[in-house]
Formats: sequence, structure tokens, C-alpha cells
Amino acid sequence: MKKYDYLIVGAGLYGAIFAHEAKKRGKKCLVIDKRPHIAGNIYTENIEGINVHKYGAHIFHTSNKEVWEYINKFADFNNYINSPVAIYKNELYNMPFNMNTFNKLWGVKTPKEAKEKIEEERKNAQIGEPKNVEEQAISLVRKNNI
Ligand SMILES: Cc1cc2nc3c(=O)[nH]c(=O)nc-3n(C[C@H](O)[C@H](O)[C@H](O)COP(=O)(O)OP(=O)(O)OC[C@H]3O[C@@H](n4cnc5c(N)ncnc54)[C@H](O)[C@@H]3O)c2cc1C
Repeated sequence: MKKYDYLIVGAGLYGAIFAHEAKKRGKKCLVIDKRPHIAGNIYTENIEGINVHKYGAHIFHTSNKEVWEYINKFADFNNYINSPVAIYKNELYNMPFNMNTFNKLWGVKTPKEAKEKIEEERKNAQIGEPKNVEEQAISLVRKNNI
């Protein structure tokens, strides 16, 4: 007699969601994991009341309303807004780039001025294989024609 319809290796997001959806459809699943806990890379350990991300910080982000409503059935989420900054030549800049960044970098005030300045930088940059993040960013601007 068949014991399980599916053997799912890995209790991370993928395995867990698959098992959940399969079970809803009447399938019997066995989920196994080599780690001693569920959740895969998004696992958090509660240390003195703080959920510590064991495998690196994770931020759940989606612009899909259906996905957001689906995932909220399983957990409570913090209202976290990711607003990283970068330090370049001892100055702080907003990441990802926005008009504040461009204004601090070049003194430009409008998207049109920023576009012109980016185009000027792009033309001046004679980059073959990027050697650092700065060159990589400039070459991506060139490749994607941003
Ligand atoms: C440091 C870091 C930061 C990240 N930050 C973000 C973020 O901010 N936002 C975001 O959306 N994504 C982020 N990700 C990506 C996110 O972790 C993954 O997309 C997501 O966890 C993938 O889920 P998964 O179920 O496919 O795999 P995993 O979470 O990796 O789960 C796979 C599971 O399978 C198990 N497994 C593997 N092989 C075997 C085996 N042979 N036998 C038994 N068990 C096995 C593993 O132990 C693991 O538990 C980040 C990843 C890392 C590493």
C-alpha cells in the first residue's frame, strides 16, 4: 500500500508550501530535512525574545497582493522598511539610487538633469571587464540603457 504521495526533501519555503498545497488537495506528504529544524534558510532562533536569523537576515518582499495575502495566513510580519545607505568617499548616499543620491553626487535637481549626467558618465566610462562595484554599476547602466 502506498504510504505517501510525495517525499519532499527540504522543509524550506518551497518544500513547506508544496507540502501544504498538496495536503489541501488530498495528497499525503513526507517532508524530511537534514537540518534539525523547519524553514530552511529563513529559520529564526528565538534568543531572549528576539528572532535571530540563523542563516542571514531575510526580508519578505512582494508586490503581488495575492502572494502577500497568502503568506500572511501563516505568520505575522513586522512592518520593516529597508532603507540602506552606502558610504562613498566618506559621504552617505541613499540606496538604491534616487534623486537624493544623484543630487548629493552631482548637484542635479531634476530627473532630466540626472539622466543627462548618467549619459555623460556612461560615455566617459571606457569600462571593459568591471574591476569593482563602481565600475559594475556604471557598466550595468550602459548595458541596460538606464
Ligand atoms: C543570507 C541570505 C539572505 C537572503 N535574503 C533574502 C531576502 O531578504 N529575501 C528573500 O526573498 N530571499 C532571501 N534569500 C533567499 C531565500 O533564503 C531563499 O530564496 C529561500 O529560502 C529558498 O527557499 P527554499 O525552500 O527553496 O530553500 P531553502 O530555504 O534553502 O531550504 C532548503 C532545505 O532543504 C534542505 N536540504 C537540502 N538538501 C537536502 C538533502 N539532501 N537532504 C535533506 N535536506 C536537504 C536544507 O537543509 C534546507 O533546510 C536569502 C538567502 C540567504 C542565504
